[in-house]
Amino acid sequence: MQEMDKCDICGCDELLNYSMGKDIIRFEELTSANFKVTDKDYGRCIETVKCRNCGLIQPKYILDSRNLIKLYANVDDESYLATSDIRGRSNYRQVIKLIDKCTKNRGSLLEIGAGSGGLLDILKHQFNHIHGVEPSKKFCQFAKERYGLVLDNIGYEDISENRKYDVILALDVIEHVASVRHFMYKVFQLLTDDGIAIVSTPNKNSLAARLLGKKWWHIRSPHLYYLDKKSFNALMDAAGFKIIRRAFFYWTFPMSYLIDCLQKLLFKKSYISLDKLTFRVKLNTFDSWVYVICKT
Ligand SMILES: [Zn+2]
Repeated sequence: MQEMDKCDICGCDELLNYSMGKDIIRFEELTSANFKVTDKDYGRCIETVKCRNCGLIQPKYILDSRNLIKLYANVDDESYLATSDIRGRSNYRQVIKLIDKCTKNRGSLLEIGAGSGGLLDILKHQFNHIHGVEPSKKFCQFAKERYGLVLDNIGYEDISENRKYDVILALDVIEHVASVRHFMYKVFQLLTDDGIAIVSTPNKNSLAARLLGKKWWHIRSPHLYYLDKKSFNALMDAAGFKIIRRAFFYWTFPMSYLIDCLQKLLFKKSYISLDKLTFRVKLNTFDSWVYVICKT
């Protein structure tokens, strides 16, 4: 594989060897099983390098976007789909509030990486036109069966640019793509001139990330890019956007799910299963940002 010779965001050619994870997995070794939303193999990721200028952590090698999409196409994650409604609800409310605060326009909305379709199912009542794009065949099938939603089963690169959208959502997507700059260029092309986009991603400079080091839960094999405030700002400058609002992105989880995650994080496996603890707890680890952005 060919090495990346400059920073994907700022173009700086001083890339330092910098391993995010405690375990390295080669990109060629990844299978669709590594891309499960609920995969808890924390601390393992592909080889990464750090830009000396903007601090972006990016893949060491140039990744083939088509191969990446093929891996996502075959992702099957029953436990994610089974709990997606519960897990997403607070998160959905947060996104809807941000839309309400930042725009009155209810024309058209695009969600890139629509997952189970739960958020679009709510938003379909609020917008004249909605469009969801999701590379996993199984997730698209679920959205159809559960919500009657027809998601476009493609990667972001194949979204037609004939239509422009007033609101674009890309929640926890940019850390998964082959090129963050290329992804944001595409969002720029698809957004109306007065539209807004909502983008979330983990913050590698957060307290949780610094305390947990190479065991940070966002260090996972599907995460290819790691951004912080500085590199995210540089990405926005490079792609022609400005930030109009920023908030911590939080989730609610069933208590049983949190206990399961905690055990796997600490002991590598789950010793006790507490399925009956279905009450939800709000979890804000202050290590994920959600940004509302618009064109400059
Ligand atoms: Zn850079």
